Amino acid sequence: MTNTPLRLATIDLAAISHNVRTVDRLVGDSEVMAVVKANGYGHGAVEVARAALEGGATWLGVADVDEALELRATGITAPILAWLHATEPDFTDAVRQSIDLGISSRAQLDAVARATEGLRMPGGAAPEARGDAQTPATARVHLKIDTGLGRNGAESSDWAGLFERAAELESQELITVVGMFSHLSNANDEEDRAQLAMLESAVAQARDAGLAPTIIHLASTAAALRLPEMRLSLVRLGIGMYGLSPFDDEDSAALGLRPAMRLEGRVIAVKRVEADSGVSYGYTYRTEGASTLALVALGYADGIPRLGSNRAPVWINGATYTVSGRIAMDQFVVDVHDAQVEVGDSVVLFGDPATGVPAAEHWAESAETINYEIVTRVGGRIERRYTR
Ligand SMILES: *Cc1c(COP(=O)(O)O)cnc(C)c1O
Repeated sequence: MTNTPLRLATIDLAAISHNVRTVDRLVGDSEVMAVVKANGYGHGAVEVARAALEGGATWLGVADVDEALELRATGITAPILAWLHATEPDFTDAVRQSIDLGISSRAQLDAVARATEGLRMPGGAAPEARGDAQTPATARVHLKIDTGLGRNGAESSDWAGLFERAAELESQELITVVGMFSHLSNANDEEDRAQLAMLESAVAQARDAGLAPTIIHLASTAAALRLPEMRLSLVRLGIGMYGLSPFDDEDSAALGLRPAMRLEGRVIAVKRVEADSGVSYGYTYRTEGASTLALVALGYADGIPRLGSNRAPVWINGATYTVSGRIAMDQFVVDVHDAQVEVGDSVVLFGDPATGVPAAEHWAESAETINYEIVTRVGGRIERRYTR
């Protein structure tokens, strides 16, 4: 027997590279930014980032600067964009490490300028330019525009002030506005097109204010796949890179994508019980006849949604069963009826359905959520192993 962990997420890095390659081909001249925020949607940010770059991604995207710095610390030199910041951000490390910053407000712009100034003071460490170490870097900024999502990004009433301040800081060589971007609601094609038009008008206004952004971006996976006019300079590819579909009406296989994560546990105990035996907290499940119960060491502490109790599928030895009774913090039970199941057998919660196991979408449906949440919540107690 090889070493078989209690809880295991196997990540197929060849699938990650394949998915990036597939989308990269589809989007033609647009570049691909691999979005690896939230520990690579639960898959492992560093490993996914490397596989994505191998697959043809030329950019990495994260939410927080800390996530970006973690990637840099492993020696990744590709451009990295971070767009979600603290209320009083200190961008010193970000500027020093050549992290591109998504900036939504004048206050954030000023914080970037302070960081660059600090680094240029006598005794301040000079920013490390990403390419040519001789060139002192200015902070690289992508102005974020709110085109309707109502999250971060500058509202149209603030554009003039933001662009004016950015132009001023550019003339002082403290920042360079390399890009402008926004994020779609994916409400419907018409709304998405209205958001594109609004981004375009913001870009025109920024150019009038003397800025010269060249990297314009809007699309995440859904628009990258279905709305060619949204692809612009680059697409920010998240869920599709992990091999999962953002759509209800097309699955991974239909999109030519391969789910990268397979989540499994082990049967850690087996017992034969009589008919009408209650199972797990509250006895929400009772065996019909005499039956065999298999115990699995995965629970909601591991990110397994408790809403999957009595609903979600699991695969054991080639057959699919349903979780029996409540999912507890650390474990759940499966009634396998009269099947031959032994301690040590693998229990697959989800993986690539092309291999016969349930899909992340089956768990999402059981738990009344989306595939994004199912993979992203896979917890820290679950060992990750990487294959190619
Ligand atoms: C998470 C995120 C993405 C990736 O979205 P997917 O639907 O997973 O492709 C892109 N852009 C921004 C701003 C995000 O926050």
